[in-house]
Amino acid sequence: DEADEEAIKWKYHDPARQQEVSWRLSLLSQLDEAIEQGQVWLAFQPKLELETKKLVGAEALARWTHPEKGPISPAEFIAAAEQHDRIGRLTDFVLANSIAAIADFSHHVPGFNIAINLSARNLTDHNLPDRVRSLLDRHGVAAHQLTLELTETAALEGSGADIDLLNQLRDMGVQISIDDYGTGLSTLDYLKKVPATEIKIDQSFVRGMRESRSDLIMVQSTIALAHSLDRKVVAEGVEDRDILDQLEMMRCDIVQGFIVGRPMGRGEMVRRLTKEKRQKVA
Ligand code: C2E
Ligand code: MG
Ligand code: MG
Ligand code: MG
Repeated sequence: DEADEEAIKWKYHDPARQQEVSWRLSLLSQLDEAIEQGQVWLAFQPKLELETKKLVGAEALARWTHPEKGPISPAEFIAAAEQHDRIGRLTDFVLANSIAAIADFSHHVPGFNIAINLSARNLTDHNLPDRVRSLLDRHGVAAHQLTLELTETAALEGSGADIDLLNQLRDMGVQISIDDYGTGLSTLDYLKKVPATEIKIDQSFVRGMRESRSDLIMVQSTIALAHSLDRKVVAEGVEDRDILDQLEMMRCDIVQGFIVGRPMGRGEMVRRLTKEKRQKVA
C-alpha cells in the first residue's frame, strides 16, 4: 500500500544509508593500500586451557588503524571486504603474519596454537592449502599449531568443493574450529560434514549463562555434544571469575575472553607469555 511505498522510497533515499554505502566503498578502495602501508595489524587474544591453567594459544584478530579516522572495527571492514569479494588479500596477510607469530610465540610456549578467522569466500580458493603448506614450511611451524575458524555456515551448505578443501587442510594436520556456535545454521548435519576439531561456543550464550537458564542449557549440551563427537570446546566472551569457574565444572576445555586477556599486540603477547613462564618456575 501507500505506506509501504513511502517506506521503500525512504529506504532508498535514506541519506544515512547512502552515506554508509559510500563509506564502505571508500574503505574498500583503501584496504589493499592500508595493508601495504602497515595500517592493518594483528591483535592476539590468549586462550587458557582449564585443565593445565596454561595459555595454549591465541586468536588473531585483524585491526585497522586509519591515519585520519583512527581505529576501524573489523566488523566494519571485513563485512565490506566480504560483500565485494576482496577478502583474499586480507586473509593472506593474516595467515602470513599469524604463522610468523606462531614461530615467535613457540619459543615461549612449545606447540603454541594460533586461530585465524576465515570467511566462507576463502573456501572457494583452491590454492589455499598450498599457500598454508608453504607458509608453515617456511617458518618451521607444525600444521597442528594453526587453527582455522569458520563462521558462515550457510555458504558451506551443499557445496561439496568447500568441504573437500577443508578436508585437505585437515589431512595436513591443520585444526578446524566452528566459530560462534549456536548462532548460525550449525545443524547436526553440518557438524557431521565439517571436519572440525573444535567447537567455539558463541559469547552471547556464555555471557547469558548466569541469568538465562536456556543459555546455560545451551552451553552444557554443546559441551556434551562436542565431547561425544571427540571435539574440544572453547567458550568465548568469558568476562568474569564466576563464569570461568562454572565452565571449569562443566568440563569446558578452553576459555577465551577479557578475564584471560584482551586482544593485544604481538610484543605484549610475548611479554605475557614470558611472565607466565617465570611464574611456573617460581
Ligand atoms: P570472533 O571471531 O567471534 O571474535 C571474537 C570477538 O569478540 C572479537 O571482536 C573480540 O575482541 C571479542 N571479545 C573477545 N573476548 C571478549 C569478551 O570477554 N567480552 C566481549 N564483550 N568481547 C570479547 P573483534 O576483534 O571486534 O572481532 C569481531 C569479528 O570480526 C570476529 O568475531 C571475526 O568474525 C571478525 N574478524 C576479526 N578478524 C578477522 C580476520 O582476520 N578475518 C576474518 N575473516 N574475520 C575477522
Ligand atoms: Mg573467531
Ligand atoms: Mg567467535
Ligand atoms: Mg563473533
